[in-house]
Amino acid sequence: MENSNQKIRPELEKYYTGPFALLRVAQMKRAWQQKNRRELSWWESTYIPSVFSGLYLTSKHFFHNLNLHICHVVGLRKNERASITYQYPEQPRPLASRLRTRHRLTKREDGSPRCVACMMCETVCPARCIEITAGEHPDPNIEKFPKEFKIDLGKCVYCGFCVEVCPEDAIRMDTGKLDTSEYSRASMIYDKNRLMNE
Ligand code: SF4
Ligand code: SF4
Repeated sequence: MENSNQKIRPELEKYYTGPFALLRVAQMKRAWQQKNRRELSWWESTYIPSVFSGLYLTSKHFFHNLNLHICHVVGLRKNERASITYQYPEQPRPLASRLRTRHRLTKREDGSPRCVACMMCETVCPARCIEITAGEHPDPNIEKFPKEFKIDLGKCVYCGFCVEVCPEDAIRMDTGKLDTSEYSRASMIYDKNRLMNE
């Protein structure tokens, strides 16, 4: 006769196999923990122990940090980094020089865009967020120029492929600006003028 384990085995196998098996096991464990959570004691339900535990942890970090800053002032423990607070947005956090930030179009000496509308960046862009309209350049030495150049920063994934692929060094991601918040999706689309001057 089949025992109860054998009966539920096919049911369990559904959970423990397949691509999301580990995730399902984690979900089941969390559900079990929530269901079997013990009741709070009277003392715990006043939340006084939790408040003091939180205060203790915060104070521990505060005094540890204060101690480090004092040590740095007198030239001690220089190799241990102390935490600091940036007064953002007035004081932005320093960014790594290699970080890919908002795009800009570089200019020639006469102020026109260096871009020759070769469409390589538009082609390589995985997010399909670059849109270029090419035009004939008045200078016969330059074949084309971008009549319009738009990047939808709401779709951009900041992969940097457009910068890598550009043969003219016409597009860069070195403005150091990351806070591109706007009030509408339409204003997330940066046109040529904004990309050259903002
Ligand atoms: S950074 Fe990547 S996603 Fe953004 S515009 Fe360039 S190629 Fe497209
Ligand atoms: S930005 Fe560079 S890659 Fe893109 S169209 Fe202009 S020249 Fe070509």
